[in-house]
Amino acid sequence: MKKHHSAMDLDERLVMVRRGTEHFAEALAELYDTDLDGDSLLPGWTRRHVVAHVGYNALAIARLVDWATTGVETRMYESPDARDSEIAHGAALSAKELRRLFEHSAAELERAWRGMPEKNWTKQVKTSSGRLVPATETVWMRTREVWIHAVDLDDGASFDDIPADVLEHILTDITDTWKDRDDGAGIRLVATDGSQPVFGDLAADAEVVSGSLADLAAWATGRSTDGVTSSAEELKEAPVWL
Ligand code: ZN
Repeated sequence: MKKHHSAMDLDERLVMVRRGTEHFAEALAELYDTDLDGDSLLPGWTRRHVVAHVGYNALAIARLVDWATTGVETRMYESPDARDSEIAHGAALSAKELRRLFEHSAAELERAWRGMPEKNWTKQVKTSSGRLVPATETVWMRTREVWIHAVDLDDGASFDDIPADVLEHILTDITDTWKDRDDGAGIRLVATDGSQPVFGDLAADAEVVSGSLADLAAWATGRSTDGVTSSAEELKEAPVWL
């Protein structure tokens, strides 16, 4: 039986994140340098912005891993503004430098994970939104980034490429976040495939949004409404996740 991502042991999770990084690398390799100037699926961002963000995000997550390893607090980003200006800077790099940023940052994060003593994986670190999480969560933070942002490159990668257990974890993560924020109340996601079919609000009168795991994840992350139907008169936009 397939295990839900959160039930996997650490080695399995590390395999999944490495697969995701390879998947993003392949999607990036498919693009010619001039394609990088084109629009991504994210409003206002070219593909360059996506690659720069994915690169700097790896370095930011590596800072959390180093924090768990050394005990010296290092935040992901100094501020939301610092994060944004770093992305703008990265997006202006040459295509060659941008590709190198992706590779170098992915290797840096891998180095940080490999260098962490086993007992430190339970140490608490802080996400960019200020939430305290164990260092194991850094693996998930990176997993969702590489799989979803590969889709955002808008050149063939899709939610259908994402393994079912990762999709299930994405939907759990999203509906949990909605709940924590008192958002998305009254929405239940029902998947037509996968081993865990129901996410979100279980109340009898909740709006039921259904579709395949991939289509639900595309809708819940605000990327697409294809293949998704609602029990309400009209399918609304999903509440914001991140
Ligand atoms: Zn991101």
